[in-house]
Amino acid sequence: MATAIRLRPRLRCRERLSRFSSIRIGGPVAAVVSLSSSEVLGEVFDMLCRGEIPGPLAFVGRGSNILFPDAGLGGTLVRFEHGDGASGCRWLPDGSVDVDAGLSLPALARDAARRGIAGFEFLSGIPGTVGGATVMNAGAGSGQWSDLCESVTVTTASGSVETLSARELCYGYRTSALLSEGEDGKGHALSGAVVLSSRLRGPFADPKECQARLSALLDYRRGTQPLEEPSLGSVFRNPSGGPPGYSAGRLIEESGLKGRSVGGVMVSPRHGNFFVNTGGGRASDFLELMYAVSKTVKETWGVVLEPEVRIWNA
Ligand SMILES: Cc1cc2nc3c(=O)[nH]c(=O)nc-3n(C[C@H](O)[C@H](O)[C@H](O)COP(=O)(O)OP(=O)(O)OC[C@H]3O[C@@H](n4cnc5c(N)ncnc54)[C@H](O)[C@@H]3O)c2cc1C
Repeated sequence: MATAIRLRPRLRCRERLSRFSSIRIGGPVAAVVSLSSSEVLGEVFDMLCRGEIPGPLAFVGRGSNILFPDAGLGGTLVRFEHGDGASGCRWLPDGSVDVDAGLSLPALARDAARRGIAGFEFLSGIPGTVGGATVMNAGAGSGQWSDLCESVTVTTASGSVETLSARELCYGYRTSALLSEGEDGKGHALSGAVVLSSRLRGPFADPKECQARLSALLDYRRGTQPLEEPSLGSVFRNPSGGPPGYSAGRLIEESGLKGRSVGGVMVSPRHGNFFVNTGGGRASDFLELMYAVSKTVKETWGVVLEPEVRIWNA
């Protein structure tokens, strides 16, 4: 992206994954490389070829949707991180924008609202990056990534750089062909592709109205979600079955599970679909709590809850 500051990748050795996850869970990792722009990704592949970092490479953004394993990871964690500035955005006169993988979603939402481009407001409370949102089809009540996305530029597993239309990404509810496995547990054709950037588009609107919508959405979140505690956001996807209009959070709440805990992980008393780390939480606690919650919801409502969080194995 033309406006991004192009710094060399930053290498840290012998780290803990918990430092790079919004729920502060995860064991040791041999190396972590942070990128301030996707333009320097090639240097990471060069470092791998020269034996300066161990493989395999695992690509993440803010780690706000990943449960890392307690046993840690053997290879290198590659993080796309721009910080909260709006560098990494290149706006075009027609209201479309090219955004770099490491750009923070709240920074993008604020910049769009300031310029009077509508439709980005829902991103203001999602604490991830463009790369994570592109893969997960991040969304909230009023919108989802696929409403904005026109195309995505990736490095494929074979090393070629390709620009794919949003249609080719087969977007669905919190899923895309870029996720490493599908609902059926089988690999997709695009699994292993690394997101470099996305092209998004929204309609022109009054900046004041965009900013008012953005503020209202943030206020709603502050009133309903435990934003000051470490979490991964929604643990489960909203189910298609069950009583009409019942979200996963409502099913969990009406099963009497708020406040239930295993070790250092608790179902938030504020929001039934958020698990929070109350101190010293482990992935094993999180998984045990997921199991207990889904078992009770199945017994009470006959609904099978599916995970929204990405669960990584050692
Ligand atoms: C308080 C809170 C509120 C949240 N609210 C919402 C919400 O309203 N809606 C919602 O959808 N989500 C929500 N989330 C979850 C999360 O923020 C989103 O899923 C977000 O899109 C993840 O972005 P990330 O950069 O943190 O991705 P990560 O968690 O780092 O990664 C997620 C997945 O994307 C892959 N990935 C990341 N970057 C790349 C890349 N450049 N190339 C290839 N693969 C990549 C990772 O390998 C992983 O499989 C919330 C989380 C928290 C903590």
